[in-house]
Amino acid sequence: MGGNGKIAVVGAGLSGAVIGRELALAGYSVEIFDVRDHIAGNCYSERDADTGVMVHIYGPHIFHTDDEEVWNYVNRFQTFMPYKNRVKTTVDEQVFSLPVNLHTINQFFGKTFRPDEARAFIEEKADKTIADPQTFEEQALRFVGRELYEAFFKGYTEKQWGCSPTQLPASILKRLPVRFNYDDNYFFHRFQGMPENGYTDMVAGILDHPGITVHLGTRFDKSQNDAYDHVFYSGPLDGYFNYEFGRLGYRTLDFERFTYEGDYQGCAVMNYGDPDVPYTRITEHKHFSPWESVAGSVCYREFSRLCGEDDVPFYPIRLVEEKQLLASYVERAEAETSVTFVGRLGTYRYLDMDVTIREALDTAALYRKKTADNAPV
Ligand code: UDP
Repeated sequence: MGGNGKIAVVGAGLSGAVIGRELALAGYSVEIFDVRDHIAGNCYSERDADTGVMVHIYGPHIFHTDDEEVWNYVNRFQTFMPYKNRVKTTVDEQVFSLPVNLHTINQFFGKTFRPDEARAFIEEKADKTIADPQTFEEQALRFVGRELYEAFFKGYTEKQWGCSPTQLPASILKRLPVRFNYDDNYFFHRFQGMPENGYTDMVAGILDHPGITVHLGTRFDKSQNDAYDHVFYSGPLDGYFNYEFGRLGYRTLDFERFTYEGDYQGCAVMNYGDPDVPYTRITEHKHFSPWESVAGSVCYREFSRLCGEDDVPFYPIRLVEEKQLLASYVERAEAETSVTFVGRLGTYRYLDMDVTIREALDTAALYRKKTADNAPV
């Protein structure tokens, strides 16, 4: 490999930008390649020219974390404005509050329960024969019972993942809390917010270092590896190995964009739990920046489907067959001593932004430690 502390980073999303910056700060010369014509990966945001709305081009991204170091890190590049994710869902011609909370339970069952009463009521509904839930469906039946599961989770999940919740891991549902009070904050985390000038601006700040050169619209080929001391690869893991064992499954999203004069739905995210509504949710982007006042509105209807060869991969599916395939690729990846695979696509995991940044910081720190003896400065 190359010498003189030269690093290639494939992908200018969160993983690539953070690793690139941390290594540039340590004196390495970093080149970042991205096939897209923009930085920031799937958290790319752009102001709509007509309405002035900050649009999350690849769907909503809301920053939330318990990791204080990560929170401080992102705050160095961007002012984070207070933002709480308060999701609604339309089911059977009614609008409910998510995540499932005391309001949802009382409205759904036509009750006026206090917290303890609701807890006891739901406990009655729970299928206690399921001791150790493995699948999404088991997790739901164990913790909320069949009625709430069928109304809020079954249809949505079938649309989102294109399969039965009996085939999905319980971990997907564990992302969502169930609350026996009126707290409708979607996340548990201590730190939550939205970057004042958008994620693109935040990532631009991370990349702004004289030791970093960014090549957009440029595909990196592994035949270039030898020109670098090390490569950090955040592209699709299977793609790196030319899909030699087959393709890892992803869901992709299609966004049907529409504009509206005024306020279309009064909130940022409206889910649709009914199976006969073809989209999973509608996002109204101006509500992601509640501190801005704009007259018009930009909305996305979000449709999920299996990712084809030319589509943008969003969610790793990770069913049993993918896990076996993944193991074959991970074995190949581990044998590549001068390439480190990082991020959502490079490790084929459903990663939140804060975890992505945490792992990128750790990966860069580890590399700096390993190469301390012959580091450039
Ligand atoms: N989910 C659901 N109904 C909803 C919202 C979510 O069944 O109204 C399920 C769905 O399977 C989804 C998972 O819970 O994939 C996790 O939801 P989350 O909001 O974290 O999904 P993301 O924002 O990552 O798309």
